[in-house]
Amino acid sequence: MKGTREMLQDARRIVAKVGTSTLTHATGKLNLSRIEILVRQLADLCNQGKDVVLVTSGAIVVGTSRVGLSGRPRTTREKQAMAAIGQGILMQVYEKLFAEYGCAVAQILLTKADIDNGKRYYNAVNTFNTLFEFKVIPIVNENDTVAVEEIEFGDNDTLSAHVAALVKADLLIILSDIDGLYTADPRSDKEAKLISLVPEITPEIEELASETGGDLGIGGMSTKITAAKVATGAGVPMIIANGENPTVIRKIIAGEEVGTLFLPPQG
Ligand code: GLU
Repeated sequence: MKGTREMLQDARRIVAKVGTSTLTHATGKLNLSRIEILVRQLADLCNQGKDVVLVTSGAIVVGTSRVGLSGRPRTTREKQAMAAIGQGILMQVYEKLFAEYGCAVAQILLTKADIDNGKRYYNAVNTFNTLFEFKVIPIVNENDTVAVEEIEFGDNDTLSAHVAALVKADLLIILSDIDGLYTADPRSDKEAKLISLVPEITPEIEELASETGGDLGIGGMSTKITAAKVATGAGVPMIIANGENPTVIRKIIAGEEVGTLFLPPQG
C-alpha cells in the first residue's frame, strides 16, 4: 500500500498558489527566472495529463512598482488601481512563458461574493470545468479592482483553498517563503523543527501558526492555517512548501518528504 506522501503521485487535479514574495524581487519587479521555473513545472504537470490551476498573487506589488509609487498603496482605491495595472503585467508574462511550453492559459478573477453566491459559484465551476476540458490552465487572482473589505478574501491563501474546493482538487500546494509549519519560529529559535505531517488542525497547531506568522507577507502562517481548514474541510489535502526553488513542485508530486502536509479529517 502507498504511504501518505506517495499517494500525492496520484493527484490528478492540482491547485498551486504562489505568493508575492516568491514571484517578485525586493524591488517589486517580477522575479523572471523563478517564474520561468514555476511555469515549466506546471506546464510539465499539464503535459502529464493533470488538470492544473495557478493562483497567483503579485498584482498590487507589480503595479506599484510599474508606476513608481513609493511604499505600499495606502488607500483602497490606490490598491485597486495598482492591482488593475499589475494584473495585466502578470498575465502578459504568464501567457508568454506558458505559450513557450505549448500551454494555453486563461484569467479568472474572483471575489468572496462569487464564492458565497450560489449562482455565481455554479457559473465559476462550469467555466473551470470547460477550461479543463480544453486542457487550459486557469490563472486565478482575487478581483482586487472591485474587492472592498466587505466582499474580499484579502489574501490569496484563503482564495486558493476556496478554489481548490470549487474545482474538487486532489491537492492544494501553497508556495511561500518558508519551508512549512515549524514547532517554533525558526528565525529566532534554533531548536525549531519542521512539522512534516498535520493529520488534524488542533488548537495547538493554530497556536503555532500565530507564533510563526509574524511579518511574512500579507498572508503569514495564520492565513495558511485558515486555508488548510477550508481545503481539508472540503476533503483536499494541502501542502505548504518553500517556493524559492519551484522545482519543489516536482518533489511534492513525486511523494518526497518536503514542506508540511495537512490531511483532510478521516472518516
Ligand atoms: N491579490 C493580491 C495581489 O495580487 C495578493 C493577495 C495576497 O498576496 O495574498 O496583489
